[in-house]
Amino acid sequence: MTVSGLATPFGFQSFPNFTQGRQGNSVNKIVIHHMATTDYDSVPGIWNNRQASAHYGIGQDGQIRAYVDEENTAWHAGDWGTNLTSIGIEHANVNLAPNYDIAQDTVEASAKLVADIAKRYGFGQVVPYKNLFPHSQFTSTACPGQLTGKLQEIADRANAINNGGGYVPTQTATSAPQPVAQTAIQKFQAGGNRFVLHGSFINDNCQLQYGIYQVRSQELTAEPFAWRDNGIPTKLLEDLDDPQGRSFNDGGRVAFKKEYQRGTIDKYSENANAVGIDFLDGNGIIWFDADKFWNHA
Ligand SMILES: [Zn+2]
Repeated sequence: MTVSGLATPFGFQSFPNFTQGRQGNSVNKIVIHHMATTDYDSVPGIWNNRQASAHYGIGQDGQIRAYVDEENTAWHAGDWGTNLTSIGIEHANVNLAPNYDIAQDTVEASAKLVADIAKRYGFGQVVPYKNLFPHSQFTSTACPGQLTGKLQEIADRANAINNGGGYVPTQTATSAPQPVAQTAIQKFQAGGNRFVLHGSFINDNCQLQYGIYQVRSQELTAEPFAWRDNGIPTKLLEDLDDPQGRSFNDGGRVAFKKEYQRGTIDKYSENANAVGIDFLDGNGIIWFDADKFWNHA
């Protein structure tokens, strides 16, 4: 099934990057992506070089393109079981790195499409991390960027549509507008307290403190800095300037090891505008500046 009335570009019948059918599986989830490009018409061409595809793409103006029929398996999640059971929706950005912003028109159209899919496949309520997922849930990727923090907004608006509220653009909403996520802490909370941090950052200083080698990085730390609360144990990190990954010379670039790059925020401090994460390495909670951490995520 496909949403009717949508433009289908490029005659995807000859488009090679999807699998016919779903191998007996049914659709039970939606995976949200951003394109990391501003032009959705360029996406199928990019896919041809990458063995990738998605069912839908939404432009900056909220126009929806259907690329792969819903009955077929698109190659978007980086996880085969997920591909077989999901519909992938791509979203155009309005600018590129580092922000990869998403237009509000795109979010609105996404909610409309999500509502339609949820209704047709009998999802019931649309719930982030139950039937509406960010791409990063299934593979190591920064995708879908900002949209991770907008999953709840998309779900709320989709549910409002399906519960009889109809499609009401935010600008003209007359009844109880949904609160818009504003602070970094609210954005993390709106995203189910999840974080993904693939980026690198500068090791300003590495010291043995409290019996643990730790890194201080102004790019992430909450201020005022204290080694006990804000130092990052080197065992969580890789030194990107050292092939062995272990030197941690001051001024070098470091990144979290893959197994620590994603997880759940354990505590928030509104007063300090900080997020606290226990990496379960035995060293308790590390506090990061919420805005710095969000901007690195
Ligand atoms: Zn993606």
